[in-house]
Amino acid sequence: MSGRGDNYDPKQVAVLSEEAVEEMVADALAAFEAAGSVAELKAARAAHTGEKSPLALANREIGALPPQARKETGRRIGQARGRVNQALAARQEVVSAAELDQRLVAEAVDVTLPMDLHPAGAIHPITGLIDLMSDVFVAMGWEIAEGPEVEAEWLNFDALNIHADHPARGTTDTLFVDPIENHQLLRTHTSPVQIRSLLDRPLPVYVVCPGKVYRADEFDATHVPVFHQIEGLCVDKGITMANLKGTLDHLATSMFGDIRTRLRPNYFPFTEPSAEMDLECFVCHGESVGNPERPCRTCRSEGWIEWGGCGVVNPRVLAAAGVDPDVYSGFAFGMGIERTLMFRNNAADMRDMVEGDIRFSRSLKGEAR
Ligand SMILES: [Zn+2]
Repeated sequence: MSGRGDNYDPKQVAVLSEEAVEEMVADALAAFEAAGSVAELKAARAAHTGEKSPLALANREIGALPPQARKETGRRIGQARGRVNQALAARQEVVSAAELDQRLVAEAVDVTLPMDLHPAGAIHPITGLIDLMSDVFVAMGWEIAEGPEVEAEWLNFDALNIHADHPARGTTDTLFVDPIENHQLLRTHTSPVQIRSLLDRPLPVYVVCPGKVYRADEFDATHVPVFHQIEGLCVDKGITMANLKGTLDHLATSMFGDIRTRLRPNYFPFTEPSAEMDLECFVCHGESVGNPERPCRTCRSEGWIEWGGCGVVNPRVLAAAGVDPDVYSGFAFGMGIERTLMFRNNAADMRDMVEGDIRFSRSLKGEAR
């Protein structure tokens, strides 16, 4: 403590007493501690370090003190303001850091959340199945052949030994392109591609022809006027029915796993002999046959379901395409892609396959593909 002058009046400077200054500091520190946000701390700073804060006002009083008291009081107030500013800076750091943390949590982006803005599409099950069936043949060295969907009547019918009076050639079954005298139609099967392949390619020929075909059909659960087929044709020396059976068995196993097949005699103009290829019923495995207590809707209790037609290529078809039937022989087959999808993926309604609902494609994703 410095010495006191004669004119020193303790009452006049009570506001600058050690206790009073300590109280101002304590008030300021308590206010800073209580401030929980940057905004609250800003208000506390103005109240305790601003021009009208108790310490600032006390500082102004120093000038009115007697000279001998000024030095000590000035030092005390200066130290007090220093402590307050230090506490303010420390608290500011704590409050800002806490606010930053809070904001980072609030604005955090979870990069593991699934993105749903542009959902991925899916390959259509028909396309997927065409690829899958084609791959079976490509793996055996066959080629893929494609042709136009608007086709010459000659290639669609005549070259395939389908005579002019055949009922399939009527306008009730076939969609002709106007004017009808031009003999253009929407192909009713992919078989004209087989003729085109024989005309275009050097022998031997091993091709599969997948694609769209058109019939003047109703649109219901089991019929659509536009559907898909895959046909195969092999023309080489020494080809027999045994090659046909082996190839189709391989295709059936690739599509359906371990499954029994049978060839049932039939008639097609473009093959001789001709057969239908049947698959053992997936549902009852033949157990419904002769068992009225356990009927099977899928195979109508026959134990077999029809998959596609096939046969040894009719020599007339080879001749029509300029191939010598005395030297070459071949086999051909064809099946519906939609029908195969129905069997393979239990898709009961053909309308689902053309309506374009992404949920249908998604549900079969990874199955047909
Ligand atoms: Zn059955």
